[in-house]
Amino acid sequence: MNDTNPLLQPWTAPFGLPPFELIRAEHFAPAFQAAMRQHRDELRRIAAQAEPASFDNTLSAFDRSGRLLSRVGSVFYNLTASETNPQLQAVQREMAGPLSAHDSAVYMDGALFARVDELFRRRDSLGLAPEQLRLLERVHLDFVRSGAQLAATEQQRYAQVMEQLAALTTRFAQNVLHDESAFQLALNGEADLAGLPDFVRAAARQAAAVRGIDGHVITLSRSLVVPFLTFSERRDLREQAWRAWTSRGEHDGEHDNREVARQILALRNQQARLHGHPSYADFALADTMAGTRSAVQKLLDEVWPRALAAVQRERAALREVMDGSAAEIEAWDWRYWAERVRQRRYAIDDAEVKPYFRLENMVEAAFDCANRLFGLRFSARPDLPVYHPDVKAFEVRNAADAVVGVFLQDNFARPSKRSGAWMSSLQWQSRNAPAFAGDGKRGGFEIPLILNNNNFAKGAPGEPTLLSLDDARTLFHEFGHGLHGLLSDVTYERLSGTQVLRDFVELPSQMFEHWITEPEVLERHARHWQTGQTIPPDLVRRMHAARQFNQGYETVRYTASAIVDMAVHSLPDAEAPADLCAFEADLLQRHGLPAGIGLNHRLPHFQHLFSGSGYAAGYYVYLWAEVLDADGYDAFTEAGNPFDPRVAQALKRYIYSSGNSLEPGAAYAAFRGRAATVRPLLKKRGLIEEVEPA
Ligand SMILES: [Zn+2]
Repeated sequence: MNDTNPLLQPWTAPFGLPPFELIRAEHFAPAFQAAMRQHRDELRRIAAQAEPASFDNTLSAFDRSGRLLSRVGSVFYNLTASETNPQLQAVQREMAGPLSAHDSAVYMDGALFARVDELFRRRDSLGLAPEQLRLLERVHLDFVRSGAQLAATEQQRYAQVMEQLAALTTRFAQNVLHDESAFQLALNGEADLAGLPDFVRAAARQAAAVRGIDGHVITLSRSLVVPFLTFSERRDLREQAWRAWTSRGEHDGEHDNREVARQILALRNQQARLHGHPSYADFALADTMAGTRSAVQKLLDEVWPRALAAVQRERAALREVMDGSAAEIEAWDWRYWAERVRQRRYAIDDAEVKPYFRLENMVEAAFDCANRLFGLRFSARPDLPVYHPDVKAFEVRNAADAVVGVFLQDNFARPSKRSGAWMSSLQWQSRNAPAFAGDGKRGGFEIPLILNNNNFAKGAPGEPTLLSLDDARTLFHEFGHGLHGLLSDVTYERLSGTQVLRDFVELPSQMFEHWITEPEVLERHARHWQTGQTIPPDLVRRMHAARQFNQGYETVRYTASAIVDMAVHSLPDAEAPADLCAFEADLLQRHGLPAGIGLNHRLPHFQHLFSGSGYAAGYYVYLWAEVLDADGYDAFTEAGNPFDPRVAQALKRYIYSSGNSLEPGAAYAAFRGRAATVRPLLKKRGLIEEVEPA
């Protein structure tokens, strides 16, 4: 069986891409088993060497190990996120435990850790290059944070906790996907479509067609439900859509996530306690730039009261366009009335903007910016293997015409894909191990194979996919992560690409968002899909003026979610609150969350927190990174050129290429010439009144 398993055969496609067309769900379990066995053998050889530990025979070798496992795993996780099915979901449930147990066994291997620890203690006398020292410290910390230093009985308990967490986070994600693909709001006739502009109708028709329905449906895909809430004149239908959107995972029955989340929280508390921390937030933050709960709190406190004040100003503006209506503004009303303000005050509406934001043009705009900043060129390679016909493959070359990597872009929502937008990889850049070459042999170094996933509503057959400005910003955001992977230029895989501290990881992505609103970029790329005309300068001016309106609403919603995340992960109790939804509601009330705002990341479907641990006690990272990106982008503003070559060169060297080879604070300071300040963030979000010098 393993002789014919395509996951275990040499991959002969160009760039060592996986043979997606041959891979079936039943190939994964045996491939995982074989790959874990191979990884264990590799590690046994490292640990059993007679020679004393050296950087080369231990750290370098450790960094090279487990390639087959990461190869199989990366294909698997990309498919379960973007193109899943019940068979893959069953494998996911079946393998979560064994894979977690494998991880624990690796990091609790006493003989292996003894070698790493010995080197770590002598690290200052080993004569290591800076990146080598960084790798040693990082790997040592990986071991420690995975339980290497715990007593044997504690290690056993720790491994159990991690295994249970892996099973529960898998279940949480599958429950959310279930609720998202199960819901559809059918719109019957003109009365149900009232207020919806053509682009929303087209997207709703397409969503219906995908589900084999004639007519229009609203799904819980963000790029469909948000425009519906923004434009629909049918308050009752808005309420229905809003309630469905915000109650995912919160219902009795098989897909109830409330108890799943409680169990995850209880296990995380045990995990933290085994490490000697009172709460999970303390444990998680110890390995971040922020470092402590109080540092995060300080940032949230800086923003929260200002955002509340901004929301009050915005509410007054909403009241004005409501023309004396005494109705309460409910959560399903806010976007609708905010859109009215935008239309009246700034004479701007999404329906006017979208024809200028055709998907293909925005992709081209992102490529063009990467070219002008970093010298990259993207060429379509329709011949490369992909896992779904909607995925576009590109070969990426640098200014010297050398291949940098491969970029796969998967832009459309579908029932088999989870919600949100994200970047992932099939292979990280490194120079420590020879790559799997196209002929199945190894040669050259590993180049980054990078993916971007978005969830845009696809245009109907024969019609273009038009983005909102928010969609275009999301496209640029994920592309920024993609560049962080593609431009990576480090020796060791563990330090490559986006594998940085998690409150640094959103810097390259959020930084890149700035270019989509540069007038120069819009002028070149925002062209009307029918007439080819450039977006009128007057419309750009109005877009910029309108940009800060409703920032209070956005900031309050985001910050409230970050507050909930920190609070729920800071509890020192072994048991999570009995009623998580009541805990959330009570907390927000005490923080003075204004009525009519509503959160769309509520605990029973908050995937950042519970579909994995990457953003648990870490939802604040977007704001943390925004301090850096707002301050960092000012370097271009100060240079008077959004493509200033000198600033771009420093940005590439210290931020986009350095991976985790530099300490993040030092990397930022090297780029900017100083540490970041919070003021540009507050200014960007319109949260401080600027006093112009006379
Ligand atoms: Zn991001």
